[in-house]
Amino acid sequence: MFEDRPSAHPEHLLLTPGPTPIHPRAQRALLRPMLGHMDPEVFALNGEIQAGLRTLYGTAPATFTALLAGTGSLGMEAGFANLVERGDEVLVCVNGSFGRRMAEMAGRYGARVRLVEAPLGQPIDPADVAAKLDGARLVAVVHGETSTGVLNPVPEIAEVVRGSGALLTVDAVTTAGMEPFYMEAWGIDYVYTGAQKCLSAPPGVAPVAISERALARHAARRTPTPLWYCDFGGLRDYWEDHTYHHTVPVNLHYALHAALEAALEEGLTVRQARVREIGEAVLAALTPLGFTPYVGERAARLPTVLALRLPAGFDDAGIRRALREREISVTGGLGPTAGLIWRLGLMGEAARPAPYRALLAALEELLN
Ligand code: PLP
Repeated sequence: MFEDRPSAHPEHLLLTPGPTPIHPRAQRALLRPMLGHMDPEVFALNGEIQAGLRTLYGTAPATFTALLAGTGSLGMEAGFANLVERGDEVLVCVNGSFGRRMAEMAGRYGARVRLVEAPLGQPIDPADVAAKLDGARLVAVVHGETSTGVLNPVPEIAEVVRGSGALLTVDAVTTAGMEPFYMEAWGIDYVYTGAQKCLSAPPGVAPVAISERALARHAARRTPTPLWYCDFGGLRDYWEDHTYHHTVPVNLHYALHAALEAALEEGLTVRQARVREIGEAVLAALTPLGFTPYVGERAARLPTVLALRLPAGFDDAGIRRALREREISVTGGLGPTAGLIWRLGLMGEAARPAPYRALLAALEELLN
């Protein structure tokens, strides 16, 4: 029975690459009474969310923004579902699990997928994108490759893609809200994130922004978007015209609104500085214990997910289990990097000194 289960420790330290610890304001917002998804107050709240997302993504007041009712993967899927038609050439940058997921999804929506690859732990080279760009209708890249802690050079890739006629989709799941992002200036056509990452809201909504060009591509489709739930037209019906499309998760909108407001009040540049400062301090503190950066090229290290090679002879599973018993969660490698690295989350409310002091104290105790 659920009643017999020990409740989660109120101060469990979630130092993973997501979800991140919920922001206290988002937590409180979840207690607000239920309203209907067609209630004027909810539409007013949605309007504030849309405005906040434009600031988050660095885009113009006219850009369409919305929340999808699902996690980051739905943000990814909605982009391909709306912007790809059978037989389209799609260029996908792959240097980790999430780039690979993009390629898989694009293929399922009928794209002829071509890959631009880089070895694990290394960024995508914009020159490789340029070399394969000819004929592409869409280019897709992950900004922060969570599986390896690599920051891909999105501004440089966008520069290459600009003017080619291809649209550019960017996965900003681990970056939006803590890493500079300028949709308008860079020329990004579709971007998404997950609420539970840098914003520290509960999982379940995916904030997206869609350029005019992307909306025009969608409007000119030969066939309807195969994913009815996230059809751009249906989203606009609800978010712009306030007509019913599907029941949005109102409580998650409250929480996202509160977390977004808190992030914008703190200031995006302040947050960018905060994550870098903590990341450097954590790396400096873990170096004497034998941890080393997994990503060699300094400029390609993702500030929000610190990927560290484990010290020789380190008992990865055993130490993580012992930390879990002390109410601290950290994450190991994914796929080929399992047992080789740890990925420490520095997104949103995880990027604070106190939880990392607790991790260091626990590690020093366990390793001595
Ligand atoms: N893209 C990236 C870069 C991610 O890190 C994740 C999740 O960690 C996803 C997409 C998928 O997001 P979700 O697990 O919220 O569906």
